[in-house]
Amino acid sequence: MGEVLYKGKTYYEPDRRAQQALVSAGIYSFRYYPKDSLVVAADLTVENFGCEKFYDPMPQSMAEQLIIPEDQTLCEDLFKKIDQGEKRVSTTLRCRRDQSLICVTITTTDWDGSGAPESAIGIIENPDEKTVSAEMVRALSDDYHSIYYIDFDKNQVVPYRLSEDIEKEYGAFFRSRPEYGAAISRYISRTVMPEDREEMMRACSVTNLREHFAEGKVFVHDFRAVRNDKTAFCRMKAVNLSADGTLHKAIFGFSDISKEKTRELERYAYIDPVTGGDNYVRFKKKLAEKTKRGYIVSMDIHSFKVVNSICGTTKGDEILREIWHCIEKNIRGNDLAAHINADHYIIFYEEMDKAAVSERLEMLTIQLGKRSVELNVPQQLPYFGVSAWEPDNKIEQIYNEANIARHEIKERKDINHAFFSQEDASRILQEKQMEDAFETSIRNHRFEVWYQPKYNPDTEQLVGAEALVRWRDMDGKLVSPAVFIPLFERNGMIRYLDEYVFRTVCTQQKKWIDEGRRVIPVSVNLSRASLYFQNVVERYQKIAADVGVDPAYVPIEITETAALDDKSIRMLADRFYEAGFPLHIDDFGSGYSSFATLNIMHFDTLKLDKSLIDYIGNYGGDRLLEHTIALAKELGMHVTAEGVENETQVAFLQKLNCDSIQGFYYSRPLPLEEFAKRIVE
Ligand code: C2E
Ligand code: MG
Ligand code: MG
Repeated sequence: MGEVLYKGKTYYEPDRRAQQALVSAGIYSFRYYPKDSLVVAADLTVENFGCEKFYDPMPQSMAEQLIIPEDQTLCEDLFKKIDQGEKRVSTTLRCRRDQSLICVTITTTDWDGSGAPESAIGIIENPDEKTVSAEMVRALSDDYHSIYYIDFDKNQVVPYRLSEDIEKEYGAFFRSRPEYGAAISRYISRTVMPEDREEMMRACSVTNLREHFAEGKVFVHDFRAVRNDKTAFCRMKAVNLSADGTLHKAIFGFSDISKEKTRELERYAYIDPVTGGDNYVRFKKKLAEKTKRGYIVSMDIHSFKVVNSICGTTKGDEILREIWHCIEKNIRGNDLAAHINADHYIIFYEEMDKAAVSERLEMLTIQLGKRSVELNVPQQLPYFGVSAWEPDNKIEQIYNEANIARHEIKERKDINHAFFSQEDASRILQEKQMEDAFETSIRNHRFEVWYQPKYNPDTEQLVGAEALVRWRDMDGKLVSPAVFIPLFERNGMIRYLDEYVFRTVCTQQKKWIDEGRRVIPVSVNLSRASLYFQNVVERYQKIAADVGVDPAYVPIEITETAALDDKSIRMLADRFYEAGFPLHIDDFGSGYSSFATLNIMHFDTLKLDKSLIDYIGNYGGDRLLEHTIALAKELGMHVTAEGVENETQVAFLQKLNCDSIQGFYYSRPLPLEEFAKRIVE
């Protein structure tokens, strides 16, 4: 035991060899004399910490020199407890020199006769035997806003550094060295977003940490915190300090990663999942920053569906990526491009004139063709619609124009791109006006139902009629259905119009029945688009029932292509039939004439399209009609010829036993009053 003299008194400390033994175990010592309020640091302690040998008076002076100010009270408490008679006290403090953590333990060794403590031995040890903690903390400290040292053996949380927010809310709490469980649950229940609490509780449980650390040194958990009513994305990183995978001491870092997270989310929000390139949102954002005019191109691939159905969607996606690569190669510095969806892409060329755009699109087409050959996949034939864009133009509008231009050439194989034109623009304006006027026109009965009679060519008797809609515009002029039906079919309004016509015809029929007139069936057209609406059969059935008219008097015409195509349409047809509606196949022979259609059950009438009638007098046309009519009759169907304009046609059809004729030869479509006159005749 060494002796030292201080202020005329002798004090004791371990001799140098004993000190060396302690230091080799990472322990530095001092002695504490409570009665004198004096600490005497061992020589090696002085050397190691570069501190003073004597601390007088204690405890303040040691705390001031060796420990950081924030931990001073804790340090003082430690000595106070010894003064009050506790035998052994211990806590973790932060060293002033390098902010590293030191664990201070004081044990009373001598008492005077009255039992008052006379001297004590203090040891300072680095809490982590391997002395990595300080480095860890330093490594963490750049990125992490709050850092804690956790001693799982002592079940103690020691704050190393606290962020401003945490300091405000938890400063005092953490400085009281709370238990780990208490600290975590307090933090989670107060700061973590409710949805993330349970998961974080589980992640932070000692069991989970132990499990985790058995395999790795680092455990990361992301969660959301609520701060000032805002959501913050946070990351917790725990680093285990033991090398053998057991859990004794660890460093926990907490950081606000909202910025990174937002950036990451933004990245996802702007990237197209299929091509990995820009998506439409990104495209729009970039375009909005442009100051020079150019052209927006809407791009589509002819029959890309075939690729998906033949090669599968994985291959399909691969090809979409290849197409994207070709586009990327095609665009230049100031151009933009994005994948919209499926086989749709958008391009912005910062070109001044149309010719340059055409050239670029030609190049792209050639590139795509070459690439298809190289990849040995079906030829990728693109087609484009183009519209001029100027800064301040609305992108959606211009893109829409490009789409319209593209649609116009969808069916054409001779050209692969078209520019949005003035005619397109005025047609769109007109369509917009029609759309706007639709509802009021229905309400104000501006849609009129006209009736075109059907005659039996043998008896020349009126046997039926077809209801045909017309639109009376504001100037009193009649607008042909050819103008507005395609639009309403596209936007779905046709359904209301068809129903309106149907209801009008039902009501009229009922009126004539009630007036005791001869009643003849008046057929109505049902668009393919209307067929797709839910419960159309039930709705029509209900209307007829409500009005009180037998469905037999209101046959329904469905066009040939609609009748042919779809299984569900066939089913609908069956249901119309079951509900008692006679069904007519309209426009037979106009499109893809198919005798297969004739096999459809429950169609009772075949309406020959005007295009077939126009062939009368032509050898081939005559034979075709002969066979068609014969076949229809064999299948038990009635045949009506449409668009019959002259006597030759009537005579020919009569010879073939055509049941009825609807055409200008007998009558044009008539307004209600005129038609009404015919049924009394
Ligand atoms: P559609 O159903 O095939 O109607 C027959 C069309 O041929 C009518 O044209 C009629 O006026 C015309 N037509 C009849 N006989 C002759 C003739 O001898 N010569 C010539 N050149 N034409 C003749 P419209 O009224 O212009 O109707 C055109 C199409 O509009 C209709 O063809 C039908 O597809 C559609 N449509 C008319 N009304 C409605 C309706 O209420 N709903 C639906 N969905 N479509 C309707
Ligand atoms: Mg029709
Ligand atoms: Mg027709």
